[in-house]
Formats: sequence, C-alpha cells, structure tokens
Amino acid sequence: LDPHAIAGDSQAILDFLAEYYRDVDKFPVRAADMEPGRVRKLLPEAAPEHGEPMEHILEDVRRDILPGLTHWQSPRFFAFFPMNASSAGLAGEMLSVGLNVVPFVWAASPAAAELESVVVDWMARLFGLPRRFLFSGGGGGVLQGSTCEAVVCTLAAARDGALGRLGHEAIARLVVYASDQTHATFQKGARLVGIPPSNFRVIKTSAASGYGLTAEAVRAAVDRDVGLGLVPLYLCATVGTTGLGAVDPVREIGEEARRHGMWVHLDAAYAGSAAICPEFQDYLDGAELADSVSMNPHKWFLTNMDCCCLWVARPRDLISALSTDPEYLKNVGAEDGGAGTPAAVDYKDWQISMTRRFRAIKLWVILRRYGAAGMRAHIRRHVAAAKWFEQRVAADERFEVVAPRRFSLVCFRLAPRSGRDDDDDDTNHVNRDLLAAVNASGRAFMTHFVVDGKFVIRLAVGGASTELQHVMEVWDLLQAIAAEVLHRHST
Ligand code: PLP
Repeated sequence: LDPHAIAGDSQAILDFLAEYYRDVDKFPVRAADMEPGRVRKLLPEAAPEHGEPMEHILEDVRRDILPGLTHWQSPRFFAFFPMNASSAGLAGEMLSVGLNVVPFVWAASPAAAELESVVVDWMARLFGLPRRFLFSGGGGGVLQGSTCEAVVCTLAAARDGALGRLGHEAIARLVVYASDQTHATFQKGARLVGIPPSNFRVIKTSAASGYGLTAEAVRAAVDRDVGLGLVPLYLCATVGTTGLGAVDPVREIGEEARRHGMWVHLDAAYAGSAAICPEFQDYLDGAELADSVSMNPHKWFLTNMDCCCLWVARPRDLISALSTDPEYLKNVGAEDGGAGTPAAVDYKDWQISMTRRFRAIKLWVILRRYGAAGMRAHIRRHVAAAKWFEQRVAADERFEVVAPRRFSLVCFRLAPRSGRDDDDDDTNHVNRDLLAAVNASGRAFMTHFVVDGKFVIRLAVGGASTELQHVMEVWDLLQAIAAEVLHRHST
C-alpha cells in the first residue's frame, strides 16, 4: 500500500465524485434506454493482464457505467425509500474502508468494537428508546448491513428461546405474526430459521386503522392459533411501513403479544430516523414492550450504505443463538478481554457473518459533523416538503391522497373519474400511465404500491439534496402529465 498511490487514487475519485454530485441533477433520474446485457457488451470478456491508471478507469465509468445508472442521489429521486449519502457519510465511509479493521471480537480491534457500543447507545438516546436497549441498561446494540440480516438474527434468538423451553420438536408449532403491510423480509426470515411457511400469519389491515395493525386483530389471530395448540412466537410491529408509511400501535399490540410471551420486534427501518425529532417520538410509544428494535441510518439519516442499527433488550438471547467459539479465535479470545468483560463485546456473536465492517466510525463521524440539531433540520425539511405536496394533492379535485401521511411519504393517485366505478381497472390504468410517463420524462422517479386493489403512486421525499423546490417542480410535472394522460384516456 503506497501512501502516494492512496492519496493520488483517492483524490482522483473525490474529484470525480465532486463533479458527479455537481451534475447529478442533469442526468435522467432513472436509467434511460438501458436494455439488459448492455454493460456486458461494452466491456472486455476478461480482466486486464496489467494494471491501468485510475484516470482510464474513471473515463470508462463516465462513458459506460454512468449512463446506465439510476441516480439514487438525484434530488428528484422519490422512489422506494431514500438511500441517503452525505459528505460526512462519504468521509466516514472512507475512514472505515481506509482503516479496514475487522472488529469481530473485541480483541481483534478493541477501539472499533467499543466505538460501536458507544455509537449505538448515542443513537438509542437520540431516538428516545427505553433504557433497556442501552448497554448501561442491560441491553445493547450492533451495526449490521441491513434490516433483513437483523431480522433473521432476532427470529433465531426468539426461536431458540422457545425451543429451549419446549423442546426441539416444537418448531412445527411456532407462529410468527405480521401484517399485510409488513416488509417481506420477515416472511423470508421466518422461513430461513425453520418456521413452517404455514405458520406465518399475515394479519389484514384496513383503511379504518390507517393500514396499521389493531390489538383486536392480533388477539383474534393469536387466540385462534392457541386454540389449535400452536405457540405464538414473534410479532413484528412496524413504524413506517414500506408501501404506505403506516404505523402499527406499538403499545397496544405489544401488550397483546406480551400476554402470550411473544418476542416483539419493532421495525422502524425508514421512519425511525424521524424519531430524532420529539414530535415523532410518540410513534415509538410502547417500545419498552419490544425485545428488539431496528432502524436503517442508510435510508434517511445521511448515512451512506450500509448501516442498520439493531438493539436488543437481552443480548444474552441473541448471543445464545448466534455465538461460535472456533479454535482459530482462541488467540484473541477471553483472556485478551473478550466476551464476559462487560465493556468487551464480541460482535461476531451479534450477527450472521463473522467478518464485519467498521461501520461505527462512519456513524460517529456523521453524528459529530451534523449534530442532533443538524439531523433534526434534515428530517423536518423533508417532512415539510411532503406536507406541502400532500396539501396540493388534496386541494386538486383530480387527485386524492390514498393513505394518511405520517412522515415524508405521500401516497396518492388520480381519483376515479365521475360516472365510472370506483376502484375499477380504469382508474388503475390511468395511474399506471401517469407514473410511467413521469418516470420516462427523466425529470423524476417514483414507484408504486397496490392497496385495496388501488394502484397508488408513492412520492418518498428524503434525498439528501432534495429541497422543497424539487418537490414543487415534480408537482408541476405531475399536473402537466396528468392533463395529457386524462385527455388521452377520455378520447
Ligand atoms: N423494513 C422496512 C419498513 C423497510 O422499508 C425496508 C426497506 O425498505 C426494510 C425493512 C428492509 O431493509 P433492508 O434493505 O435494510 O434490509
């Protein structure tokens, strides 16, 4: 590792990225004219025999790669959920990958492991999580790559706890509960940890509860299963669902789950970031009833990928399910600190993989660079822009808001046209055409969801460089394209 090469190559990349971020708004947001196989056609069949200068590589990135990208960091990217990038996030990520240390056990990189414990405690305090999730309160947290990984870990911990009490053959009787709005990863995770697919309950939600679960619906599902001799194992409560941004009432359903000794997981992947503002902390009311909580700083918390915070109230449960003790780690094990010393966390036992990234330094840089006040301003700017958009949609009789806006996601559609049936194929068809035309324009990118048979357009505000002005421009664009689409459909 030549220090001059590190400085030279990194500088070339930084210059390239500075130029990219200056111009990102000029690219069509969604990859334009991209057909499958194009990159393969452009590139040689095999890797080069000899190394090449960074400048040549970057030329190829500009020519062959950039035109085929969907620009997630465009201020006009409103699809899925945001995946924030920031200058502090990039700087923190550079430190992480530059130092390239691996804190799988405490002794393998003690300061990295300890920084992680400090940073997850800072995050828990910022979000107003109960003390039981802090290391000082007997719980603790870990930084993983994604909610999907974190969920598998919690399901494994819940499963092993139950099987420890009931015996191994009870696995066929364990039941996992979620709503029809819960992220699909819970179903996948349940399958991965051996829960029979027929024991995954999808509880129906409705417009009446804002597409959140209700205690009654959970009770009915659980009572039915208990009557059949099944064992309620795990309930997922979501604050900010993927499709609609809906919120499950954590306290009500948590109490219901607790009555049956279930593990409660609180998934706040997207909306957890908003809890840094006191006005959103009520959505986490009842979090003390949860056994685990997760949120993704890489969505809406100015954190470049990847980063998921997972907190557990009883680390012992997680560690029992995930720990390994191979001989080749004995040289950096207990006698050097290792698990058993309160301050020494062996993070390999808190996740699936052993090797792991030094994510803590990235999140630490971000928190220090922007401070809690800076993060609150970031969240509030997007919520205000989403509110502005929602008001415009509600005031325009051609459109309607389909689900309540809680955070920075607005779910809307062109309303059924008078004289035609509600919810019919016609309305969905018109909205599909509207979304396709907006995305084809290259001036914005949004995605859709389907609820109660309605095709819904989602405007997810939250890009790090998205300002109110961009949301205003997308509203102008939508109105212009809606007029064309409606005209086309009426003739
Ligand atoms: N849960 C919710 C509510 C989400 O919106 C998402 C992703 O959008 C996930 C979980 C999955 O997160 P990840 O991609 O980090 O696995």
